[in-house]
Amino acid sequence: MRAPDPAPTLLNDRCPRCGGGFHCGAADAHCDCFDLQLSPALRERLAATYSSCLCLACLRELAAQEASAGTTPGRQ
Ligand SMILES: [Zn+2]
Repeated sequence: MRAPDPAPTLLNDRCPRCGGGFHCGAADAHCDCFDLQLSPALRERLAATYSSCLCLACLRELAAQEASAGTTPGRQ
């Protein structure tokens, strides 16, 4: 009983975008998403669209999409 394993039970959050299980570490002190470079506009849009955190894969995808789309707002 030493280092706790990242057991599947820790994947207690479900990504509202892809439905995959993940664990948001925001409540623990550090979440992987802190390492991502999300623009304030993207964060705002995520907050408006989803009621909870997204998994890292989706956050990466959205960040990449935004980066490739530039900063032009209004694209659907
Ligand atoms: Zn996801």
